[in-house]
Amino acid sequence: MNIKCLICKKNFILKRAFKDLLSCKKAYVCDKCVKENPIKIQFNYLPLTNHQLEIVSLFEKPYLNYDAFIIEYSQIYQLLATRNKPIYLYDSFVLKEQNLLEFDYLATQLDDDIIILTNTYID
Ligand SMILES: [Zn+2]
Repeated sequence: MNIKCLICKKNFILKRAFKDLLSCKKAYVCDKCVKENPIKIQFNYLPLTNHQLEIVSLFEKPYLNYDAFIIEYSQIYQLLATRNKPIYLYDSFVLKEQNLLEFDYLATQLDDDIIILTNTYID
């Protein structure tokens, strides 16, 4: 099956082994782009007044196409969702004084910690 890579825009072939020949295997990024853009999950914890803001970032640099790693995002999201805390998704999350105040207010209103899942975290 010929697929266009969502990062480099080149066509690539999705390799299959005999055991997954009939499965619905999906990929949106070619092997070269996966090697050049490895996922490095980082956890950053910021204290709020009564709760905490947890920022889970996947990459060290921002990406143009948010959909390229949607499979990995959904797997990480499902893991985080088991903790039953509000999760917010950002393409790139830039920490500013103003949005820290907003998350502090939101955490107080929800009476819970907040998780942010983002491509890139810039503090
Ligand atoms: Zn590529």
